[in-house]
Amino acid sequence: MDSQNMLLLAAKLQELQAQENYGIGVSCVRSISLYLERGDYQSACAVRQNDGKKIASYPALEKAISESMGCRRHLQVDCKSLFCNPKLHLLCRILGIHKWMLLASRALPFGVYEAKLECDRCKVQKTYRDDGF
Ligand SMILES: [Zn+2]
Ligand SMILES: [Zn+2]
Repeated sequence: MDSQNMLLLAAKLQELQAQENYGIGVSCVRSISLYLERGDYQSACAVRQNDGKKIASYPALEKAISESMGCRRHLQVDCKSLFCNPKLHLLCRILGIHKWMLLASRALPFGVYEAKLECDRCKVQKTYRDDGF
């Protein structure tokens, strides 16, 4: 993220968080905003990951942050992981239309086999590990 976008996001987050918690605001989001203002993206990401659970309880903040900084677990915008998109894939399961496609596979040490699968409908991804037991 370039410095211009960091400043824009910082201002947006500052404004959004001030409306939460009956006007008290959300301190971890204030920290993210401060780091972004200073151009310290790495520290902003660290707070995003450490306090992700707290941020997730504020939908407007979570939305603004994940759209620009990515998901909590992978810091990936528009993340396709099943972990980050459980609701999306739930619909596939309920409708019974999902089908896992093999994306890649590899053999790990000690006879462990790992496969990366992708739902052909919603494109969420999951990793499947078979340790041979
Ligand atoms: Zn993710
Ligand atoms: Zn799916």
